[in-house]
Amino acid sequence: MKTCTIRRDVDRWYACFPVETPATAVETKHPKNPVGVDVGLKSLITLSNGEKIEPPKYLRKMQKRLRREQRRLSRKRKESNNRDKQRIKVARVHRKVRLQRTDFNHKLSHTLVNRFDLIAFERLSIRNMIQNHHLAKSIADASWYQLQTFTSYKAEYAGKSVRFAESRDTTTECSRCGFPVPKNLSERMHLCPNCELMKDRDWNSAVNILNRVGWGTPESTPAKIEPLPLPQKGGGKFGR
Ligand SMILES: [Zn+2]
Repeated sequence: MKTCTIRRDVDRWYACFPVETPATAVETKHPKNPVGVDVGLKSLITLSNGEKIEPPKYLRKMQKRLRREQRRLSRKRKESNNRDKQRIKVARVHRKVRLQRTDFNHKLSHTLVNRFDLIAFERLSIRNMIQNHHLAKSIADASWYQLQTFTSYKAEYAGKSVRFAESRDTTTECSRCGFPVPKNLSERMHLCPNCELMKDRDWNSAVNILNRVGWGTPESTPAKIEPLPLPQKGGGKFGR
């Protein structure tokens, strides 16, 4: 341990110190079980084997509460004691949302690394993330970025790989024949006029992401789709 940083988060204090640990595993050269991951609208996650993962309901619930407390804050009189109190309340709810999202990302990255030996993501455009002024979108992007970071370091520890695919046209391209099939936001299905592939829109993207990192089999279709077992809220500890 070489440095220690003391940090305050609203009314909590943290001591943060980095430690060095030896590398534990060697990366697998020939992944047997690769997966592509797509995050669609409303931060729903789709895997290249067709599984869908929905973020826990409590996340949306807390976001609602955050908006409510923020509205209350805007109604308080400037420089009043009540305004100060409400400001702290908002900050606490903010922290709660942030910690819950981090917790979810730790659990999801853990599950991904446990189940698959190569995980392919879409490369995020940092420039787009910074320039985007739509709040909900920028929060989703930040969370998505966190999931990628967590998965990367957990994979490294487990001797597994994370690859990043170019994100251009992952939604339009046909994952079987490569034919461009433009869709608007409301179209949930990919219907290829060239090879007649019919697939859920996000599933098609997830397969494209895996194909682009060089480990996909374009026509891979699972025999059956099982729901992804996610650890429940509050269960288990995940190291940083
Ligand atoms: Zn096609």
